[in-house]
Amino acid sequence: MKAIVYHGPGNKSLDERPIPELAAPTDAIVKVTRTTICGTDLHILKGDVPTCEPGRILGHEGVGIVHRVGAAVQGLAVGDHVLISCISSCGQCDYCRRGMYSHCATGGWILGNRIDGTQAEYVRIPHAQTSLYRIPPGLDEEALVMLSDILPTGFECGVLNGKVQPGSTVAIVGAGPIGLASLLTAQFYSPAQVVMIDRDPNRLEVAQRFGATACVDASRQDPEAEVMRLTDGVGVDCAIEAVGIPATFEMCTSLVAPGGVVANVGVHGVKADLHLEKLWDRNVAITTRLVDTVSTPMLLKTVRAGRLDPGQLITHRFPLSKALDAYDTFSRAADTRALKVVIEVS
Ligand SMILES: [Zn+2]
Ligand SMILES: [Zn+2]
Repeated sequence: MKAIVYHGPGNKSLDERPIPELAAPTDAIVKVTRTTICGTDLHILKGDVPTCEPGRILGHEGVGIVHRVGAAVQGLAVGDHVLISCISSCGQCDYCRRGMYSHCATGGWILGNRIDGTQAEYVRIPHAQTSLYRIPPGLDEEALVMLSDILPTGFECGVLNGKVQPGSTVAIVGAGPIGLASLLTAQFYSPAQVVMIDRDPNRLEVAQRFGATACVDASRQDPEAEVMRLTDGVGVDCAIEAVGIPATFEMCTSLVAPGGVVANVGVHGVKADLHLEKLWDRNVAITTRLVDTVSTPMLLKTVRAGRLDPGQLITHRFPLSKALDAYDTFSRAADTRALKVVIEVS
């Protein structure tokens, strides 16, 4: 089969690999139909993720059809259409029992990291029973690729951890796919304001279309001054960090109102300053989280009911044979206007 393989920092190729086999009775093999590229894959290619070793097939998002199923897997059969969660979870360890699938003792974020991933014709999914979701008939499977990672991430790490409530004021720093996923799912709660902050006018235009009440172009405007102007000088109840660099984290701590929450979503590779001299008396909370994908069943229902349209995030499509072009397009988003790039596998 064809697969996109990581060969060390800056180096990837479309290689020929054997079709994976069941390694445990709890595994399934999925024939991938659609997958996508995540900002995290670009982090891997920069060498930021040491757990991902050269030789690894990349990718942790996708949909497909069950091809083989282990003897211990219940509720899934060959031929079932499934959504692949970016998080593998056994459902039984202490962390899984607490709903913290991201820290599963024998799972977590392992796909396309510690084990071979989804940017291939077939993928082995461990703990298949609790890591795959059957897709109800009639749903747009391409759009559901957005539910493997970015929508649960934007929702759980940003909106839930940020305690967005009806009437809340929210600032989202970063209007990439994850920030936009937070924007879409924050609207479940009818916040009074959602201010999007980015340096890319195209992404801000998309944010406006997706329901932002105000957009701040950080290359031309001072985000702190703008947010204070929009909130009568108090700041926001919830500041969501969706970039992953020190400047944007520090920006969030300057935007948050007393009693508010800074919800970090971004993947950080270096340390950031924490201005406790300004924050110590402000009753704020700072949260971090790796997505657990506990909200995936709920998100599937909202898509099915037409309350959420994740397909809006897809801007480009490539066949697997052109996957390297897909990476190129996704990595030059400012020029190509890419949000999510779907790879059509079969
Ligand atoms: Zn991802
Ligand atoms: Zn577990």
